Amino acid sequence: MRANHGDAQPVNGGGHMKSEANPMHQTTQEPLRLRLAPRCGARTRSGRPCSSPAVKGKPRCRMHGGSRGSGAPKGTRNGSYKHGAFTCEAIAERRELRDLVRDVRTLLRDT
Ligand SMILES: [Zn+2]
Repeated sequence: MRANHGDAQPVNGGGHMKSEANPMHQTTQEPLRLRLAPRCGARTRSGRPCSSPAVKGKPRCRMHGGSRGSGAPKGTRNGSYKHGAFTCEAIAERRELRDLVRDVRTLLRDT
């Protein structure tokens, strides 16, 4: 019994399994939600994209301008606001109108 114990095969996951991967490159250790998140596209000093998970609702990670409270305010509080013709709402409105006109034109052409 005792002698057999020493010869026993090590069971995977039974003991303290130290991962062989470099802890600085733990890409598989992050939770699934983070792994599926869109990636930050900021260019790093190495020239490649940052590829850290982007903050929700922003195209950048928390280190590249995605953090809460960073960036300029929306609307009239923004320094480059002139007359409201280029707010997100105005641009979206024009896009919808443009799509509508395009749809009507294709409809008229087809019939
Ligand atoms: Zn980043």
